[in-house]
Amino acid sequence: MKRPRNIVILTGAGISAESGIDTFRGGGGLWEQHRVEDVATPEAFASDPDLVLRFYDMRREAIQTRQPNPAHLALARLDREWPKQAGGEVLIVTQNVDDLHERGGALNVLHMHGEHLTAWCTACDRRHRWTGPLIHRPPCPSCSEPALRPDIVWFGEIPYRMDEIYEALSAADLFVSIGTSGAVYPAAGLVRTARDLGLRTLELNLERSQGSAWFHETRLGPASEVVPAWVDDLLD
Ligand code: NAD
Repeated sequence: MKRPRNIVILTGAGISAESGIDTFRGGGGLWEQHRVEDVATPEAFASDPDLVLRFYDMRREAIQTRQPNPAHLALARLDREWPKQAGGEVLIVTQNVDDLHERGGALNVLHMHGEHLTAWCTACDRRHRWTGPLIHRPPCPSCSEPALRPDIVWFGEIPYRMDEIYEALSAADLFVSIGTSGAVYPAAGLVRTARDLGLRTLELNLERSQGSAWFHETRLGPASEVVPAWVDDLLD
């Protein structure tokens, strides 16, 4: 295989599973005992805001006690060393709303589904770093309105920064998907875009994803093993 130059990496909940953060589809259709539509849609927030805020308060608190695992650390190493070694760029596009890529040391991370540690004011549209709870309706630090919500892209909402993602794909040679089930669009469609653009495509996952047939190559195993092994192959 020709050595790639620019690499776009899509990560999903599977890369954080071994850090102790539940994946989405692991528990028989329930996400921490809740149906997805009860906690992760704008309709749920409109009809039962307390339930939704409490759910995200719990998750925000939990992720701060979790640590990056060897897969996050390996991607951070690739992100730092690839430009020096190959003169190319690495972009990590994550569906995850945890901050484990950043805490692992990665620099080029794009959160297409938002972030747990940010609150978004629906009154003034500003975003603020937020580590505490939202259930008590704290005032927005910018406009003082009690209108903060989790800065999470819920089902039915439009993911962030899609233009930047497509731009990065059109300048890349390799697309790698790690720990994602391929069930949530438009993220799940990025592999097809990558194929249309002529990129090489690689999947690293515990089991084959729904879009597995679109990948030139699939390597199966836990992220903490297959990701460092792939990064070692690439950097050596
Ligand atoms: P998903 O839960 O639908 O799929 C998880 C995938 O990870 C599966 O393909 C599974 O086989 C794989 N997996 C599980 N354990 C693994 C391991 N140890 N190593 C490698 N792969 C492993 O997740 P998704 O495709 O990312 O979609 C879920 C949505 O929910 C995303 O949009 C995301 O925003 C959100 N979410 C985020 C987090 C987080 O931030 N950590 C956690 C749960 C859900």
